[in-house]
Amino acid sequence: METRTSHEIASSASPPRNDSTVVVRHPEKAARPDNPVPRKPPWIRVKAPVSPEYQATRRLMRELKLNTVCEEAACPNIGECWKERHATVMILGAVCTRACTFCNVATGRPDLVDPHEPGRVAEAVGKLGLKHIVVTSVDRDDLDDGGAGHFVRTIAAIRAAAPATTIEVLVPDFLRKDGAIEIVAAAKPDVLNHNLETVPRLYAEVRPGARYFHSLRLLHEAKRIDPSLFTKSGIMVGLGEDRTEVLQVMDDLRAADVDFLTIGQYLQPTPKHHRIDRFVTPEEFESYRKQAVGKGFLMVSASPLTRSSYHAGDDFARLRAARAALLATA
Ligand code: SF4
Repeated sequence: METRTSHEIASSASPPRNDSTVVVRHPEKAARPDNPVPRKPPWIRVKAPVSPEYQATRRLMRELKLNTVCEEAACPNIGECWKERHATVMILGAVCTRACTFCNVATGRPDLVDPHEPGRVAEAVGKLGLKHIVVTSVDRDDLDDGGAGHFVRTIAAIRAAAPATTIEVLVPDFLRKDGAIEIVAAAKPDVLNHNLETVPRLYAEVRPGARYFHSLRLLHEAKRIDPSLFTKSGIMVGLGEDRTEVLQVMDDLRAADVDFLTIGQYLQPTPKHHRIDRFVTPEEFESYRKQAVGKGFLMVSASPLTRSSYHAGDDFARLRAARAALLATA
């Protein structure tokens, strides 16, 4: 999966999944040489997930048999987000058909698509009382539409059950799935997010199944189909990119009319994953944030623990306000 998908990165081993079809989470990474996982610097510290609200969110996800990227990617923010009952649902199963070297989501033979999953996602939105929901998925290269139809059905189910809830979809790249982004954009999510994950030079080693310019085109196309849609993308830093390359990605995303940029620190899930090149300091993140704001993004979130769905609800409210303010001055 992508960052989505997969820009939600692991900092520890993942908890058990909701099914038992995969024994080895990353069979394609097993033969890779070990990259020692470095100690995290003092500015990357997260609270242990122990709150009653965290436990309640976890129970609900189990009860409704829903996967979350929060757990599957072992996101470092899970204690904080789930305390607020903010979970990012991962549809289309828990097994990804790609093998990105940064990602902790299990890879292998994908699960069967569950036609009842959209209804259960909608039920979770109601039970969690969410004003804003982020829905992502694994990559489904095996499906004719890449899973686009399942996204559409999930959006429809949430709209029917909770019309006031705003919906953000964090979609895979739908590579070689003609018409997929068109049907997702036509379903009118409030935010369409697709992560570039890294700079183009590192695609071959970080995101080998993806194409940088295809991902950019997908974002551009979504905005062309529905100019009222908010578009969003993110990258990780600390993978070996340099500053000039990050600034070029910002320019590329602005050229694709993307509204919201997220930048976070890559954290290495296991020794078999892509090595951490370095920890980017909070001061550098602030400098990236300022540069991105100067390039015209409506919203920028850049910090070590920024993930594409971190504080997504509050950020969506700010995003809407920023567009309204811009239109008022136009
Ligand atoms: S940042 Fe996103 S993936 Fe991580 S715990 Fe929060 S909602 Fe889940």
